[in-house]
Amino acid sequence: MSYQTDSSTAASTSNRYPTSVLVIASGLLLGLVWLLSCFTDLQAGTGWFPLSVHIACEVFAIVVASLVFAVVWHSQGPQRASSPLLGCAFLAIALIDLAHMLSYNGMPDWITPASVEKAISFWLVSRILLACTLLAVAFRLQPKRPLSRPALLLVALAVAGITTFMQLYQPQLLPRTFIEGTGLTSFKIMSEWLIIALFVVAAWRFWVGRKERPAWQAEGLLAATLISIFAELCFIAYDNVNGLFSLLGHSYKILSYCFIYQVMFVANVRAPYARLAVEKAERDAAEKKAQYLSSYDSLTGLPKPELLQERTRQALMDARGQQASVAVLYVDFDHFKMVNDSFGHAFGDRLLCRASERLQQLLPESAMLARAGGDEFLVLLTELTDAGATSAVVQALLKELSEPFVLDWQSIVVPVSIGVALGPNDGQDFPTLLRNAEMAMYKAKQGGRKSCCYYDSELDAEMRGRLYLVNGLRLALSRNELLLHYQPQVDIATGRLLGVEALVRWQHPQWGLVLPGRFIPAAEENGLIVEIGSWVLFEACSQAASWRAQGMMIPRVAVNVAAAQLHDGSLERVVQDALAKTGLPASALELELTESSLLENDAEVVLMLNRLKALGIQLSIDDFGTGYSCLAYLRQLAVDTLKIDRSFVQGIDTEDGHAIVATIIQMADSLGLSTLAEGVEDQAVADELLRLGCRQAQGYLYARPVPAQELSATLAAIREQVHGSALAQ
Ligand code: C2E
Ligand code: CA
Ligand code: CA
Repeated sequence: MSYQTDSSTAASTSNRYPTSVLVIASGLLLGLVWLLSCFTDLQAGTGWFPLSVHIACEVFAIVVASLVFAVVWHSQGPQRASSPLLGCAFLAIALIDLAHMLSYNGMPDWITPASVEKAISFWLVSRILLACTLLAVAFRLQPKRPLSRPALLLVALAVAGITTFMQLYQPQLLPRTFIEGTGLTSFKIMSEWLIIALFVVAAWRFWVGRKERPAWQAEGLLAATLISIFAELCFIAYDNVNGLFSLLGHSYKILSYCFIYQVMFVANVRAPYARLAVEKAERDAAEKKAQYLSSYDSLTGLPKPELLQERTRQALMDARGQQASVAVLYVDFDHFKMVNDSFGHAFGDRLLCRASERLQQLLPESAMLARAGGDEFLVLLTELTDAGATSAVVQALLKELSEPFVLDWQSIVVPVSIGVALGPNDGQDFPTLLRNAEMAMYKAKQGGRKSCCYYDSELDAEMRGRLYLVNGLRLALSRNELLLHYQPQVDIATGRLLGVEALVRWQHPQWGLVLPGRFIPAAEENGLIVEIGSWVLFEACSQAASWRAQGMMIPRVAVNVAAAQLHDGSLERVVQDALAKTGLPASALELELTESSLLENDAEVVLMLNRLKALGIQLSIDDFGTGYSCLAYLRQLAVDTLKIDRSFVQGIDTEDGHAIVATIIQMADSLGLSTLAEGVEDQAVADELLRLGCRQAQGYLYARPVPAQELSATLAAIREQVHGSALAQ
């Protein structure tokens, strides 16, 4: 038999002391009574245990035995596989005890007349059953295939039934236990000694194996067995069923049943509940810990946004009715990625910790700082007395955070951009305030970093429009909505075609043809431009190759390359792929780079462009003159052409404009570069450009950007136009 071991001693430690005290006191009492009986005749009195007291005792014993059965029967589960045997045995014991009570001397006839022997016989069976059950429990006897509970119940009922039947109808088949006038038979006395022996063995086993069970269980079972031994001793000592020993024996029997009931109740009801309580407490503690870990950032120890959310909710509730009573600040460090890339992530982490400390110091007591992840922090300002309070904090943050951090003897400046949303005006709840503050932060970044921006509803509309645009653009690629138009580039003097520039368009299902000015900036901002740029490159190369295959000689195709494409690291492979797959010679491809994209002076980029150059690809600088004045890159890169920006070309009739164009052409000349004028719209400008030394042009004077299939007609028109103007001169 197996009782599950269980660490919850809590259920019973309080009982331990009374258990042993009760057993010792019972033993002492028995010894005392026995000693007294040696001197005075205690046996003689019959008033000790009258019928009424016997009935009361037995009813009590039957109730307790039934309770043992009930408790065990209703507690199920494989881990208490041992209990059903004991429970069902107690059902049989209860029934046989009932039969014993009904047979007691003085009771009315119950089928056969009551008699001492009838009562003793039932008694003996009940005691043997108890002894055997305790023995089985003590030795943990477990049949290979344990009986099911209903089967055990049937066995118990059968034992009780057969015993009763034999006692009532076939008593002559049973050995005699009591002979009127003579007293107890030796069979009865031997049986009692045998029962005592069984109890002693069980008690010994409980004692030896006490470590195998929970202490309360071992003690309870041992106590029950020892008290049962006392009971048996009383029934050997008595010679009068109404005497003191009979009373004592019956009392011990009840006490032993109570111990067993207590063990069963604790094992099946109280202990599982105690265990459940412990498990629940453990789970609660684990949950609390997990909650802590999930609420605080592991790097900086700052709260996570969820905590800020709760605080914002409270602050908004307190401030109901007042205007702009809370402010959510979205603080984002500018170019933090560069710090990580240059100094490593460990350094970046330490810098973030230092930055968070500095932030914390700059904030008022009532503010709450949280880390939103990465290099982004959130600040909640509450108890704002006036509109200037937020502004003062924001200005202090902008100023102090642009001071350098000194870490590992390095002085590093990482300025911040801050977006501000004021509640409840800009949002009634935290998610709205957070989103609006973030939006404002992006706006701040756009307007030059190291600045702040307050949210307003126009900003919302703008961002929504942009979001709509970006989402549409993402789909545009997969839905094949992008297309290229081509604008001829010509030799001003001869009208000869030099090449075409590929310019992307978006054929939107609702908006119609969308020009790049509307979507390229958004695509550049979120990196989509890399994918779009790759598509443009491939499409332009394959179109140029197919023109060649058709015999239409387009000397080169120029493709615009965005800064992100240069720094993404995939451009070289994309270009090589496009050339290899379309069969276009490298010399027929020109890449238009912008000045600003070369400004970062990335050695990798310069090397990569020079490798492309070595393949035969031509390079030009787009919108020349509008970017930065640092021209160092022109020396490092073997650029072929400078494209003079449209704004200068169109201002050529002003004094300054003319000077600028002339200077660019001269400078290019001295560097051995050619120039191409963009946005040439009339012949006079073309003539002046030619006079200044610029030989190439592109503009509406010659042609607008046109779809690929219209190019040959466009080229024919240009030839016609040049021919006409030559004739005119
Ligand atoms: P861009 O590279 O400077 O392209 C020239 C722009 O000037 C084109 O505008 C063209 O239509 C316009 N243009 C040409 N001749 C004239 C003229 O005589 N007068 C006037 N007023 N405008 C003229 P588009 O096609 O709207 O392109 C705008 C910009 O979009 C381009 O400027 C370029 O920066 C960008 N872009 C276009 N396609 C691509 C692309 O495939 N990739 C990237 N990264 N950018 C592109
Ligand atoms: Ca261009
Ligand atoms: Ca341009």
